[in-house]
Amino acid sequence: MLVVMDKDATQAQIEAVVHKIESLGFTAQPMPGGERVAVAILRNPRPVDPALFIDMPGVIQAIPVSRPYKLVSREMKREDTMITLPGLELGRGHFVVMAGPCAVENEVQALTIAHRVKAAGARVFRGGAYKPRTSPYSYQGLGKAGLEILKKVREETGLLIVTEAMDQESLRLVADSADIIQIGARNMQNFSLLRCAGRTKKPVLLKRGMYATLEEWFMAAEYLMAEGNPQVILCERGVRSFGEHARNLLDLAAVPAARRESHLPIIVDPSHATGRRDLVPPLARAAVTAGCDGLLLEVHHQPEKAMSDGAQSLYPDQFDQLMAEIQTLRPGGWK
Ligand code: PEP
Ligand code: MN
Repeated sequence: MLVVMDKDATQAQIEAVVHKIESLGFTAQPMPGGERVAVAILRNPRPVDPALFIDMPGVIQAIPVSRPYKLVSREMKREDTMITLPGLELGRGHFVVMAGPCAVENEVQALTIAHRVKAAGARVFRGGAYKPRTSPYSYQGLGKAGLEILKKVREETGLLIVTEAMDQESLRLVADSADIIQIGARNMQNFSLLRCAGRTKKPVLLKRGMYATLEEWFMAAEYLMAEGNPQVILCERGVRSFGEHARNLLDLAAVPAARRESHLPIIVDPSHATGRRDLVPPLARAAVTAGCDGLLLEVHHQPEKAMSDGAQSLYPDQFDQLMAEIQTLRPGGWK
């Protein structure tokens, strides 16, 4: 249920609604909107009777919410969420490209790529310090040293940083160092990790699990939001399929479908979706046309020497060209 307050409702009237919800044994979460505040009722095991609220001073409506992912759904919040960071807006018409290598390998590598992607128009640098690898013998990332390199990238280039937290220990370090915390596809249903990320004050980029339905993905986002973090970015990165021509199947229908269901911004990662550099630009263009709010792209200056995901990493020149193409596909481009 969503209790919608009059736009002139006083703080005391909002508090009275919160108090009433809590006295019923439920959780109240005030949600400031553009014009008015609404108070969400969470953790109610049964539907709540609207009559309990509609006569309260300052209340104009009590709307039942049918979706299980309440905070994520458009029933709860009609207008698009915009993620705001120093110097960056994402969503509500603001398109952002996040680019960089799969993994941070060393300072020279990270800075070389960062300068190139920045010059082409990327606003956020990506690069894993903690890598979820299928094989325990594959490169696992530089860990803390990688986070230090990412900080240096931010200092030298002004790019914001997104990097993955794999577990609660790395989450603490990533939350201190990065601007956006990435939760990877394999951890999309790691509920204790989601809870901890929901308690941070940093935006969270939530990848869709490779076997997850949209509903499961939204429920994962709900874990983050229910802990009080409203800054969630959904990222479609492809799901498992039977074909061998690409690593995954990029589900582009997820973009308009998620937009319809949820107010959260949605970005697309065609690199992990395809696993093949030649397929990345066409799918990136298709994602832009499908209406995503941004792209996450792997770029490497020497992909043949990359410690991970070289085959899907764009050469910087290819990235330049793709960025120019995006400019022509979207009014307003990537700025
Ligand atoms: C990544 O972005 O580095 C990554 C490992 O992606 P995913 O979780 O989508 O596989
Ligand atoms: Mn990768």
